[in-house]
Amino acid sequence: MDYDTYGSSAIELAIELANVERADPEWARAFLSSHSEWFTPGTSYELSPGETHRAGTTAALVRDVALAETQDDVVLRLNELLALARPRPYATDHDGELHLHYAREDAPVLEQLTTTVAMGLSQVVIQHGWQRLGVCSAEGCDNVYIDTSRNASRRYCSNTCASRSTVAAYRARQKT
Ligand SMILES: [Zn+2]
Ligand SMILES: [Zn+2]
Repeated sequence: MDYDTYGSSAIELAIELANVERADPEWARAFLSSHSEWFTPGTSYELSPGETHRAGTTAALVRDVALAETQDDVVLRLNELLALARPRPYATDHDGELHLHYAREDAPVLEQLTTTVAMGLSQVVIQHGWQRLGVCSAEGCDNVYIDTSRNASRRYCSNTCASRSTVAAYRARQKT
């Protein structure tokens, strides 16, 4: 996907957070470790059960925004998410490319996560429209996605779901 035209790749983190499996009590720590490029080096990923619960609330809110069907609902849910953010942006080129980080550098990891996700998601929704967010059409998958295609034609969360559905549709046609 091409996130360049979207001004922020933090939306990617938001979508991945919304889709992560949260059954394991250690899910948040695992998610943070596998997305370490988003957090200040040296930040501790240790979370209390309460903090893990709050990370789950952030994930659920991102999903709620993606599932919202009216602009009023989008505004309501987005503002609920933004209320959890503590933005203190700064510019950086740590990866060679000049971009913004939304949370203060020394913020605890939960604050970095929630702030990055809330700011990244709301920036894309406001600039490109909430209709760009959707739920996967594949059977048995309820992942959310952001549609960055030029003609807003995306229907699946991943190539895997897209090809799985194509195969299923083909088989269904063969049967009839
Ligand atoms: Zn960065
Ligand atoms: Zn899917």
